[in-house]
Amino acid sequence: MKVIVDEVKCCGAGQCVLIAPEVFDQREDDGIVILLDAEPPEQLHAVVREAATVCPAAAIELSETA
Ligand code: SF4
Repeated sequence: MKVIVDEVKCCGAGQCVLIAPEVFDQREDDGIVILLDAEPPEQLHAVVREAATVCPAAAIELSETA
């Protein structure tokens, strides 16, 4: 799985960080998402999918090809 985040779309809601703190963080000054792990391990895929689903800005894109 590959994770791509779109900082322009991100509105800093922080849902992704609450759901998958191993993969997402937020910039301190404006809350915009920081991608910590662009290729998270198998055991995190379910939470990463959930984070992408709940992101209100649809700023998290997943590629499931790997
Ligand atoms: S849930 Fe979406 S909008 Fe909120 S911080 Fe994460 S990427 Fe940004």
